[in-house]
Amino acid sequence: MKAVVLVGPGDVQVQEVPDPVIRDPGDAIVEITATAICGADLFPYHGYTPGFESGTILGHEFTGVVREVGPAVRNFRPGQRVVNGSMIRCAACASCRAGRPTQCDERALFGYSGVYPRLDGGQAELVRIPAADLSLGAIPDGVSDESAVFVADILPTGYGAVTRGGVTAGDVVAVVGCGPVGLMAVMCAVHAGATVIAVDGIEERRGLAASLGATSVGPDAARETVNAASGGIGADVVIEAAGAPQALDASLHLARGRGIVSVVGAHFEPDFPLNNLHMFERELTLRFTIGDPTNDREALLGFIGDGAFDPAAVVTHRIPLADAAEAYRMFDAREATKVMLTP
Ligand SMILES: [Zn+2]
Ligand SMILES: [Zn+2]
Repeated sequence: MKAVVLVGPGDVQVQEVPDPVIRDPGDAIVEITATAICGADLFPYHGYTPGFESGTILGHEFTGVVREVGPAVRNFRPGQRVVNGSMIRCAACASCRAGRPTQCDERALFGYSGVYPRLDGGQAELVRIPAADLSLGAIPDGVSDESAVFVADILPTGYGAVTRGGVTAGDVVAVVGCGPVGLMAVMCAVHAGATVIAVDGIEERRGLAASLGATSVGPDAARETVNAASGGIGADVVIEAAGAPQALDASLHLARGRGIVSVVGAHFEPDFPLNNLHMFERELTLRFTIGDPTNDREALLGFIGDGAFDPAAVVTHRIPLADAAEAYRMFDAREATKVMLTP
């Protein structure tokens, strides 16, 4: 089959590789119909992921049709349309049993290696899904594959930013960083009835955020706009979706007293100069969240099916899988906000 392989930093190649096979009784093989490139794919792309193995097939956001199942798979049969969850889990460890699958002892991310045990991803014609009953979700009729791809990762992430930020109707919510995850947070916060101010330096992203119902501004105008919307006290909830220390710092200064800063941008810097004086005087809550497709998949597919929102509105580029190298270059250069690859 053809697969998108990371050979080394900056070197993505579409290669002919062996078809995946069922290894364990709980496995399924899925034929991919749509797969997205995620900002998280850029970390190994730049060589920032320690221990990443050359040859790992990329991709943790995908939909497809079940082609084959192992004898222990109970919930899925060949021919069924499915979406993955970005991470696999064990269902048996203390975190899984407590309903916190993102903290599973045995978690692994599709399309990654090194940080987690190697698990080849779905930017390919076929993918092997371990523990298919836990990892896959059925796509309801009336939800397109392209919309369902978002449920694999970034829609639950944006939704988690909103729910764990405690957003309620009438809140003033600032979203700092309007890449794909930030746009998902904008969509979910608007759906929750908040007044949303979207902050990004890139015009295309501001335009997408505005089309989802936010007031969009550049970073320089963020404070003034938040103050105008909040009677000068600051945002009830600030969602940091940029994954940069400067964005986190800016977010902490946009929140009102006793406000919540809900972080879904990926952070790997070990040190951050947290201003304790500011945190204490303003009584701020700082919260980090990894998207949780396991717990939120059903609700989100329901919202899409009901027409409450459609995450596919943020797809800016649809590119054949064979041209993945160029797609990665464009995505990395921010010439493309959200790229969908089709085998
Ligand atoms: Zn992702
Ligand atoms: Zn577990």
